[in-house]
Amino acid sequence: MKLEASAWTDAGPVRDNNEDAYHLDEDNGLFIVADGMGGHAAGEVASRIAVETLRELLSGDELDPDETRLDRNVGDPSDVLRERLRYAMNQASARIRREAQLNPAYTGMGTTVAVLLVEGDQAHVAHVGDSRVYLMRDGRLSRLTRDHTVVQQEIDAGRLTPEMARKVAHRNYLTQSVGYHGPVEPDTTTRPVEAGDLFILCSDGVTDPLDDARIAELCNEADATDLAERLVQEAIRGGGEDNITALVIRVAEVG
Ligand code: CA
Repeated sequence: MKLEASAWTDAGPVRDNNEDAYHLDEDNGLFIVADGMGGHAAGEVASRIAVETLRELLSGDELDPDETRLDRNVGDPSDVLRERLRYAMNQASARIRREAQLNPAYTGMGTTVAVLLVEGDQAHVAHVGDSRVYLMRDGRLSRLTRDHTVVQQEIDAGRLTPEMARKVAHRNYLTQSVGYHGPVEPDTTTRPVEAGDLFILCSDGVTDPLDDARIAELCNEADATDLAERLVQEAIRGGGEDNITALVIRVAEVG
């Protein structure tokens, strides 16, 4: 398996600080985007704790199996990995809450987390919140995550169309976040990877100003090595005011 990854992040044209955090590790196949929220610098703290915790628990074999009840998951290795992702997310959530209890300035902080873990020829995706993972394969873009937002619930219930949802004021209200909401139930999926696959992880700073059709166009236009930067620049041009982060992972070879 050979992965080629690149990342780009920008505070955006309006904000002074960047509360997005990311991690890119081609050797361990681990890629993370976290979009923090909270007053003052708290969002930065939350996203950094999340990325740090996941990196620690998901890179290599550092994890103590006793801590994760992995022994109960003998059988399908994908189940074990998804359990590991769930465990890491909940550990991150507990650490952020602990930090918030110790420091009143951090009260209410939380973060989204989107993770891609490539192991063997399988891609495992987990997320909490509205940072997304996309897959571009054979010129077609698919969204691998479903936002944990109030508007996504409205879309699912048939009360909003995706087009209407892009314009409502409360479109970023989360139904789950790591830290703020305590224990979390990340969505996890596993799928086989193919040579040429392009995975994109991004914060809502990308997907607020750019719809999926525009993201797909950019994937087809830009070289994989330039795509992360291109997505961020296009989001700024498209009127994005938020922090903006994109990770692009190309599967160069399988096996
Ligand atoms: Ca954001």
